[in-house]
Amino acid sequence: MCNFNTLSKNEFGLVVWCQDCESYNLYFGNIVLTLNHQGLEQFKDYIMQKYSASYCNGNRECKQILVETTLDGMQMFFSLNEMGALIALIQEAEINHFQDLLV
Ligand SMILES: [Zn+2]
Repeated sequence: MCNFNTLSKNEFGLVVWCQDCESYNLYFGNIVLTLNHQGLEQFKDYIMQKYSASYCNGNRECKQILVETTLDGMQMFFSLNEMGALIALIQEAEINHFQDLLV
């Protein structure tokens, strides 16, 4: 059985870590991603690239950032606000996880 430890949380979602599976669950809106450390890192890099390449005419609420998925024909879309919250969630989770490992 999974033994989850919450690493970060905001109004959009949360990141938990299971020591037994050595994996993260990232909950964001209606999405759940199960990722190992490398997967989380890669996802964060990808999201940050998308975020910095987006303008949305200064409107942080318009949902214009498209993110590819591995499912053929399926994409997810985010606003700048949501994307920023997602990045913050992952960064905080990584910091908290790293601190836990030092204890
Ligand atoms: Zn587990």
